[in-house]
Amino acid sequence: MLPITDNHMHINLVSGRGMEAIKEFKNVGGTHVLIVSLPASELGFTIKSSEDYHRVYGLTLDAVKQANEFVKAYAVVGVHPAEFIGMCGPYGMDKAYEIVKEGLEMAAKYVAEGKAIAIKSGRPHYPVTPEQWEASNALMSYAMQLCKEQGCAIQLHTESEEGTMESISGIARNVGMQPYKVIKHFSPPLVKHCENLHVFPSVIATKGALEEALSQGTRFMLETDYCDDANRPGAVLGPKTVPRKTKDAIRNGVPEEVFYRIHKDNPERSYDIKIEV
Ligand SMILES: [Zn+2]
Repeated sequence: MLPITDNHMHINLVSGRGMEAIKEFKNVGGTHVLIVSLPASELGFTIKSSEDYHRVYGLTLDAVKQANEFVKAYAVVGVHPAEFIGMCGPYGMDKAYEIVKEGLEMAAKYVAEGKAIAIKSGRPHYPVTPEQWEASNALMSYAMQLCKEQGCAIQLHTESEEGTMESISGIARNVGMQPYKVIKHFSPPLVKHCENLHVFPSVIATKGALEEALSQGTRFMLETDYCDDANRPGAVLGPKTVPRKTKDAIRNGVPEEVFYRIHKDNPERSYDIKIEV
């Protein structure tokens, strides 16, 4: 049976649909999912010190544990770039930087202990001050160094503009990460463009994106960035999207082998996991 992997989904055990979303994913053929930590604000609390990230990551691990009753789930933990910017106001940039840095170190520890398979980091996708931009890049680069030490992948939340892929590729190359471990989350279908860069696209499965990505190759993964936010239903893609689009494509003549590449070989290589059904 063909595995179907969603490379980036959120499950909110505090205020979301939780396992109902995972069951939906499974019922249409989803088999593997990476559950990514949510910003604390989405979970109803504020980060006051880096210790609070235990609570954030703990909720991610709980979601993974519950999801494993239905599918094979993995945890990705780390700090969303908007959290850093948000903390700069109340705490000042230096303290915010320390908190995020320690939050990332904690994420690396979760990877070292086998609780998570990758770290989430990135830089803001909206305009910030030059100082905040510089600090965000430094934090992202630090997160990459932690990943390199752990030999794990990074999922990057960044802007998607002309030159973005080259820019993050350059930073990853300086750190010395393996290209297929530098995963651009929420990526446009720039499959060809990324082939010679130090970046691996996780294509967001919006309308037409899979078709466009497939027309360029198979060096990509697929995700929904399902955010499990009851207040924003339909604001993002639902949990059924990746399995449904995969099956539609096969029905329309895309060979199944292609999807073994996308849903199995690619994540196996990026995350050093075994994807089997
Ligand atoms: Zn996300």
